[in-house]
Amino acid sequence: MGRRRRKVVRIPKKRLPQVFLCPRCGKETIRVEFVKDEDKALVRCGSCNLADGFSIKQAYKDIDVYCKFTDKYYNERKFSKSASTNQ
Ligand SMILES: [Zn+2]
Repeated sequence: MGRRRRKVVRIPKKRLPQVFLCPRCGKETIRVEFVKDEDKALVRCGSCNLADGFSIKQAYKDIDVYCKFTDKYYNERKFSKSASTNQ
């Protein structure tokens, strides 16, 4: 725990990308990337690599995509919880 390792990531200084709380690992490492050519957004956690993609509308912002992402995540959890007996 004592040591902190930093990955070398080049981020332009002008604006840091917004990060969100990951529903799986609980860290603020979720990022939303927009693929403009395909009207898609990719959501990825930089910590646990939880990832998903969504088709979006033009007006969508990263927070909207994040909401879809968490909704889907919790829905899937709900389903798998009722479907399986292991805990
Ligand atoms: Zn995570």
